[in-house]
Amino acid sequence: MSVKTTKYDVIVIGGGAGGLTCAIGAIKLNKKVLLVERRKMGGECTWSGCVPSKAFIQYSKENFSNKDEIFQKVRDVSEKIYLHETPELLKSYGIDVIIGEAQFQDTHHIKVDDTIFTGKKIVISTGTSPFIPEIKGLNESNILTNDNFFKQDKLPKSLVFVGAGVISMELAIPLARLGVKVTLLERAPEVLAIAEDFVCNSIKGTLKKYNIDLITNVSIEEIVPNNTENSVVFLKDNHQQSVSAEKIFIASGRTPNIQELNLEKIGVKYTNFGIIVDDYLRTSQPHIYALGDCVGPFRFSHVAGKQGELFIRNLIIPFFPAKYPKDPVPYTVFTDPEYAKIGLLEKEARQQFGDNIKVYESFQNDSERAIVSLEDQFYVKIITHKGLIVGATVLCSKAGEIANLLQWLYASKTPFRKFATVIQAYPTYGDFLRKLAKKAMIDDLLSNPIVKLFRK
Ligand SMILES: Cc1cc2nc3c(=O)[nH]c(=O)nc-3n(C[C@H](O)[C@H](O)[C@H](O)COP(=O)(O)OP(=O)(O)OC[C@H]3O[C@@H](n4cnc5c(N)ncnc54)[C@H](O)[C@@H]3O)c2cc1C
Repeated sequence: MSVKTTKYDVIVIGGGAGGLTCAIGAIKLNKKVLLVERRKMGGECTWSGCVPSKAFIQYSKENFSNKDEIFQKVRDVSEKIYLHETPELLKSYGIDVIIGEAQFQDTHHIKVDDTIFTGKKIVISTGTSPFIPEIKGLNESNILTNDNFFKQDKLPKSLVFVGAGVISMELAIPLARLGVKVTLLERAPEVLAIAEDFVCNSIKGTLKKYNIDLITNVSIEEIVPNNTENSVVFLKDNHQQSVSAEKIFIASGRTPNIQELNLEKIGVKYTNFGIIVDDYLRTSQPHIYALGDCVGPFRFSHVAGKQGELFIRNLIIPFFPAKYPKDPVPYTVFTDPEYAKIGLLEKEARQQFGDNIKVYESFQNDSERAIVSLEDQFYVKIITHKGLIVGATVLCSKAGEIANLLQWLYASKTPFRKFATVIQAYPTYGDFLRKLAKKAMIDDLLSNPIVKLFRK
């Protein structure tokens, strides 16, 4: 065992979205930085999450003769993104990079292989792995997860998703488009429970259009291998049923990557859902931070990145540390069409503000951009309270981009009506939003006491 005499200002464990933000930010502050990654830099986002799933969706819309080639094309996209994250590039910035598994020795020392490193501050950003439920007949050799899905070279003829959350919803549609018979099995009575009803119904409509079977309220009992197929046996309404498919994809939750870290030994508290942190992302050992998916509950790359930025912000100004905001997290679900949400749903806004809200809702024919783009689904709902956006939902092919505009108004506390004052090119979604903002402007005007007086 060798002990490195170099003392690092910051040791980062995990080279995903969160860890990379911390390591690159800290080196720019002239800190001595060590980044440890046990697999490949980029983490889940680059290799088994955002990047390959979005490339898979995109390629599924293209015409190529051998559809199995999609996997190699998707891997090529991951490799392109990886060029921004390679150990060589990170080393060129001055970061010490080690590929290996980190484990705490004590609160200031971590061990990687046979070497011990010392850190003043240590960041844990180790992400999550697919949670594999205990199901009779299920073993790691006969299932797919997001970890091995993109490593395949051949599309299956049929596939059953166990769990119909965001990962399954996003992959089910392109798979069906590529000719795979897809079934979604979900334990909960409803899918996309955190969406407006209109969105939930629209997406269920898309599943139908692609001949994807969605079966909710199921309890999986057993997996029975059967020549080239596997039967998934489940209970629904007290009746035993089964569905057979060539492949079974388990997407029934995530488990934090913390087992190997030795957290008990160093007194860092955690639950089954993730590491416990305070508002400053400090664990129960205040010089050890945790962020990103291994903390949860919002498991998105942009959350991991933003938390990494907060760590850097507090490294610059440690005497007046900033807190991680408790605001709702914006996100986009890349179904067909996309669904994006910021802030609150209408029912949440009503719980918070009663009827003191305004709801601006728009459908297909209201948006000329949607019409000329031949979009068959388009929906926007914007909820304001005292003129400020408190929540919005967008469903269309560019929902994520539109929601980003709304997120800016929401986060900067700019009244929605102000968007009406900014000219937008026609025909764009921005121009459509301006029309909706004009309604808010008129509402505001009409509720103005002076205007009310003159209208009498
Ligand atoms: C199919 C799918 C699609 C997704 N799509 C999106 C999307 O469109 N948009 C979005 O925002 N999010 C998406 N996500 C979520 C996103 O991938 C994660 O939120 C994000 O990657 C989390 O970043 P992280 O840095 O917290 O963790 P990770 O990216 O998981 O990085 C953690 C790293 O730590 C390493 N590690 C673990 N333990 C150790 C150890 N002991 N020593 C050294 N290294 C260790 C791991 O190997 C890993 O590389 C998707 C996820 C999936 C599964």
